[in-house]
Amino acid sequence: MKRSSKTKPCYIVITGGVVSGSGKGITAASIGACLKARQFQVNIQKFDMYLNVDAGTLKPGKHGEVFVTVDGAETDLDLGHYERFLDVEFNQSNSVMQGAVLKEIIEKERAGDFLGDDIQVIPHVTSFIQDKIVSIAKGFDVHIVELGGTIGDYEGLAFVEATRQLADRVGRDRILYVHVVYLPYLQTSGEVKTKPAQNSVRDLRSIGIIPDILVARCETKANHQQLRQKLNLFTGIEKEKIGILENAQSVYQVPLILEKQNITPYIASWLGKSPKANLSVWRNIVRRAIKTYHRPVKIGMIAKYLDNLDTYHSLIEAMKAAAWTTQVDLELVWVDAKHLENLSSSETVLELMKFDGILIPGGFGERGINGMIQAATYAIHNNVPYLGICLGMQIMTIAYARLHGLSQANSKEFNPKGQQLVITYLEGQKDLYMTGGTMRLGSYECHLKKGSQARQIYNQSLIKERHRHRFEFNPEYTQHLESAGLQISGICPENKLVEIVEIPQQNFMIGCQFHPEFSSRPMNPHPLIVAFLRAVKKSVAI
Ligand code: GLN
Repeated sequence: MKRSSKTKPCYIVITGGVVSGSGKGITAASIGACLKARQFQVNIQKFDMYLNVDAGTLKPGKHGEVFVTVDGAETDLDLGHYERFLDVEFNQSNSVMQGAVLKEIIEKERAGDFLGDDIQVIPHVTSFIQDKIVSIAKGFDVHIVELGGTIGDYEGLAFVEATRQLADRVGRDRILYVHVVYLPYLQTSGEVKTKPAQNSVRDLRSIGIIPDILVARCETKANHQQLRQKLNLFTGIEKEKIGILENAQSVYQVPLILEKQNITPYIASWLGKSPKANLSVWRNIVRRAIKTYHRPVKIGMIAKYLDNLDTYHSLIEAMKAAAWTTQVDLELVWVDAKHLENLSSSETVLELMKFDGILIPGGFGERGINGMIQAATYAIHNNVPYLGICLGMQIMTIAYARLHGLSQANSKEFNPKGQQLVITYLEGQKDLYMTGGTMRLGSYECHLKKGSQARQIYNQSLIKERHRHRFEFNPEYTQHLESAGLQISGICPENKLVEIVEIPQQNFMIGCQFHPEFSSRPMNPHPLIVAFLRAVKKSVAI
């Protein structure tokens, strides 16, 4: 299938089959990365089928991380994959949840925009979805659209139908349908089974989409030749257009695997470019990712959403990237903050002594807070490198305040009627507690104080970082805490809010109100996280 003209964007629609979580997002991001390496202008968009308006109100333990874009959209974690693989900052329009689509249509209906019309899924919802796709594809060579969920999900039908209709709107020769399936492995017979994948392709065809490319995810080593033959026989997809993704040592190998299996070179030639690409960036990343480093460092991650580590996906990726740069063999040990609360103080010390560094990531609500405060206090007393991210910065402030004359120090989030609220509400947030889209969200500037460790780390005076929180450092306590030795080293010039605190007497004790992990890239790790691991490495060497 050859395209007719090169001036308008082409579309790659990625659907999933059999099970969710089989690597559709990574496949989409990897295809994007391989096309970007060929100098195509690539855009990418995720549609999620939940009736939520955005990911902000989803439960982290169930759905995983809420990724925040620079313009403050609370999105699905796939946006994080896209940013890391494409090294681009995306925005609100790159992530669309079904709730937002329906809300907008109903608001239009109430405003009388459809007067006289029966509003229906087809054509109203489906063409609305297409508008969302086509409008952000403008100006790009290729626009990748990933549909969340799996084919056959009742709630996703309007989206699948919209992308089927899209072929009529933009021309079938401008769309490539890629279906990502899962091949289960039966241990007793030692077989990789293709039946669920066959059925999934049949389901997709019954909706009117004949996939051009099949990517099959499989968790063991398999005979690719045989699998391709069988999948070709039962799905009609040519063997050359079937990719097999076995478990890889690093997720960053996927672009290279798709390349080697001729999937992305095929897409490039379909788009009218040479199948050849320079993927040295990816080879470099993979080399660093799979290399063995000999300096072990153990970081205690004192956290609260441990039933699903996807909640910390960007942070884990950011830590890995920083570890390659600092050349350490990183071990992240997840500690349930709540568990620390049940230990005696000597048991807590024994537990925390195992770590070369302590990191407290973001989080919401009271559960586990005291365990986190114990961990931060331990880091202060023992000069253990500490990085506090968002909630972790607030915990560090509370712990420091409690040790310096404010024994009742707390956050309004955990003790609304408290007397010494060193962390409190942002003006205007008072009545919005626990509702969606009401936090300080997205990118804000931060001015770094001369002579501070933060300024030295970033090596510039003005930075921009992404936020997602409701509570802030309380300026009423600035003077008290500064004279007690806590340095405020980052301030937002726009609203004068505190962005970074540090304790200069310690080797490394920094808390940031923002989330550095969202802007870390495998090829360009975040300076603050790199500096933390450097401090840890140095303290281990002593
Ligand atoms: N719960 C805190 C707040 O809302 C911290 C949020 C976070 O860690 N992202 O301010």
